[in-house]
Amino acid sequence: MKKPEILVVDDRAENLLAMQRVLNDLDAEIHTASSGNEALAMVLDHDFALILLDVQMPDMDGFETAEMVRLYDKTAHIPIIFVTAISKERKHIFKGYASGAVDYIFKPVDREILLSKVKVFLTLYRQRQELQQLVQNLQHSQELIAKQNATLTLLALHDELTGLYNRRHLNTILAQEFYRSKRYGTDLAILMLDLDHFKNVNDTYGHAFGDFVLKEFAHRMKKISRPTDLIFRFGGEEFLILLPQTDIEGGVKAGEQIRKICATEMYEEGPVSISVTTSIGAAAFHNDKPEEPDQLIEMADKALYQAKDAGRNRVLAYTHLMEDQGQPKGV
Ligand code: GH3
Ligand code: MG
Ligand code: MG
Repeated sequence: MKKPEILVVDDRAENLLAMQRVLNDLDAEIHTASSGNEALAMVLDHDFALILLDVQMPDMDGFETAEMVRLYDKTAHIPIIFVTAISKERKHIFKGYASGAVDYIFKPVDREILLSKVKVFLTLYRQRQELQQLVQNLQHSQELIAKQNATLTLLALHDELTGLYNRRHLNTILAQEFYRSKRYGTDLAILMLDLDHFKNVNDTYGHAFGDFVLKEFAHRMKKISRPTDLIFRFGGEEFLILLPQTDIEGGVKAGEQIRKICATEMYEEGPVSISVTTSIGAAAFHNDKPEEPDQLIEMADKALYQAKDAGRNRVLAYTHLMEDQGQPKGV
């Protein structure tokens, strides 16, 4: 911590010297001023722990100087020890200085008394500094916690690789959107996407390139979808999109757009330049059907399987005919 600073004010150079000699024994930085005006200028520039203020000075006396010091918020708290030769001034010393730490000492100044009085104020100053430091640390910790909480919230809802919403968040949002549609009688389309033969991409170009494709694909989907569409990373190379107030035709149309972009835009990194296709299953909540949100996912999943089975790189809408076809392994 910084050394405390003490200001000694006296119009006589020999008094300043004498005081300085005594105070030099303390672990403090001693400054001197030879008039009230000089003292006021210094007080605004420093953070003094204490002012030793001569009462009898020409122009502005010690009391007037003290009143000025008390005037500014920045300096009002500085403790003052009046140094005076005349004991009859005592009543003045206490008058008007009820607030703020004030003490007095008589001339000729007794070394031991001066040191003991100054030490008390220095201790108070250090305690105040420590307290300020603690408050600062506390504020810093609180800011840090708030930032970490924000990051945690973000991480809890988002997929780290693609920045899309994660599956945990889907549980919340799907129910919310589903029951909203049910309540207001609106449609809700859902798309289930799975990149085709993605294992080959990893096997041929490496996992890092696979990651790049997933990120880029997520980015492209986001770019072409509506701000109201909610995009999730469902699993490894599987994605899910909720399209509020959209019927099955609208859902298929949106899916077709994504499928086209996916199939035509290349993924390029270094010498590698490839295209990746995607299969998409579409389903929608319509006329109070299905009854539960999870059924909507099952329907889209069945349609997706059919799209894979029919040769991949296509969008298929769920139909009841798909009910009879079991869910084979591997998708
Ligand atoms: P299909 O057309 O039937 O969907 O074939 P597929 O190869 O895409 O399907 P499969 O389920 O056999 O393989 C999925 C692949 O996705 C295998 C896995 O390594 C890869 N994958 C899953 N998550 C990630 C990931 O986070 N990063 C990378 N690079 N690859 C992933
Ligand atoms: Mg898959
Ligand atoms: Mg796949």
